[in-house]
Amino acid sequence: MAYDPDNIFAKILRGEIPCTKVYEDEHTLAFHDINPQAPTHILVVPKGPYVSWTDFSQTASDAEIAALVRTVGLVAREAGVAEEGYRVLSNVGVNGNQEVPHLHIHVFGGRRLGRMVP
Ligand code: 5GP
Repeated sequence: MAYDPDNIFAKILRGEIPCTKVYEDEHTLAFHDINPQAPTHILVVPKGPYVSWTDFSQTASDAEIAALVRTVGLVAREAGVAEEGYRVLSNVGVNGNQEVPHLHIHVFGGRRLGRMVP
């Protein structure tokens, strides 16, 4: 799937749409989900134009990949959910019910989450 530069997260990354920022570095941005499904619901996105893990894993630099992983751990700690636990989830494509076609990771926490079912 080709990257759509007009997707909502691309607009957030360009500053065209506001977000409640949690963390930002050279390669990643983390912000609160507009429709939180748990007391903590943060989205972590790479800044590069990636749709999914498929293109990210093939074309992102090692620095971008490392930054994404580090940011997930960092926001969990900063949000105060690391101790009691949290969930990291990423939807991809039609079968994954991905709504926004820019790679993102959900970080859910702050309450006991339901069991994961496909
Ligand atoms: P997906 O279903 O693609 O994995 O998740 C997309 C997420 O993006 C949803 O949880 C949705 O609430 C969130 N979202 C959609 N539009 C916006 C927006 O404009 N701002 C923020 N902060 N989150 C958004």
